[in-house]
Amino acid sequence: MDEMAAHQFHHWGRILSSPSERRVIILDRYTNQPREMIMMASNNYLGLTTHPAVIEAARKALEKYGAGAGSVPLLGGTLDLHKELEYKLARMKGCEDAVIFTSGYSSNVGCVSALVRKGDVAVNDRLNHASIIDGCRLAGGELRTFKHNDPESLEKVLQSCEAQGFMGKLVIVDGVFSMDGDITNLPAIKKIADRYGARLMIDEAHATGVIGENGRGTPEHFKMEGEIDLVAGTLSKALAVVGGFVASSKEVVNYLRFYARSHMFSTALPPAAAGALIAGIDVIQNEPELRAKLWRNIRYMLANLRRMGFNLGNAETAIIPIIVGDETKLKLISREVHQAGIFVNPVYYPAVPKKLSRLRLSLMATHTQEDLDDTLAVLEKVGKKYGLI
Ligand code: PMP
Repeated sequence: MDEMAAHQFHHWGRILSSPSERRVIILDRYTNQPREMIMMASNNYLGLTTHPAVIEAARKALEKYGAGAGSVPLLGGTLDLHKELEYKLARMKGCEDAVIFTSGYSSNVGCVSALVRKGDVAVNDRLNHASIIDGCRLAGGELRTFKHNDPESLEKVLQSCEAQGFMGKLVIVDGVFSMDGDITNLPAIKKIADRYGARLMIDEAHATGVIGENGRGTPEHFKMEGEIDLVAGTLSKALAVVGGFVASSKEVVNYLRFYARSHMFSTALPPAAAGALIAGIDVIQNEPELRAKLWRNIRYMLANLRRMGFNLGNAETAIIPIIVGDETKLKLISREVHQAGIFVNPVYYPAVPKKLSRLRLSLMATHTQEDLDDTLAVLEKVGKKYGLI
């Protein structure tokens, strides 16, 4: 990090002194001065972190219940607010019930490690999020991977799992992949999982609030609501607060309440967070214009970046990778983009393969035309200078 900082390549952990919104104020590590930047690295997809109804609900919950829940969920930390949130999440995801966690990371770790026991196997898309992989590592069962979004590869892996005599098989995919911004081929994946008697779990972190006609995520996008065994996700991206959840049948959710150790042994969500999240789910349902604005921005950026000639892989959602593929170039580009006032993160190996190192943009409904055009102008300039376009 010191070496990276010496060349002004170190942009991790930039300090914000403003909300995570379309424009942020950061304390610049290199000048030690505050400065405004266009935020292109926030998961606050619909702008709910600062939505008045969300803030008001957080304030009311804080005033009524105080700052913390006081205990783990099973031993006194369950508020009526938590139950209301679980009920709303279950309805949003078309499932019987849902259980909440204090982060999306801990819901994946807790869920997978609780379900995949000795003699079982978890079969993962190769690009699944680290929290799912960590859950598999903590689980008593085995971990297998298949090629990214490739149903044929999944089928081969499941065939070999059958041959090895595993008892339970859990196929796990992200709905929207966090580094590539593409959508899982859910119908084909589900068909193959069914063929081999495997259960299916989907991580809706970047899909909730973003895809599906009503923002209900990947199953809604494919008209497959109610068909997925386990729908997991985070409450920290479009829902803009913090927390995670797993929605499923009553039986599975009850099992997780006692066997998902990151739920069982960890204090419940703070009341203000739960209150804000309940309001956020209502906003997603009642203000479709936010999602429409996000999609206008997504389409505009994808079309313009592709027209300029950038390699965006299979990006099709609010996450847009700009593939650079050469880590030295990526360092120089990220320094220039930072100096030009655009807040974007470079992603290096081992987060992605070296030849796929990239800048990773996240779009929000609240970005204005000016934000998008200013960003495009900077990217076009560096893209030409470094031979990306
Ligand atoms: N799953 C995916 C696909 C993610 O991108 C993330 C966020 N980094 C998580 C899970 C973890 O969510 P959280 O930040 O709420 O812990």
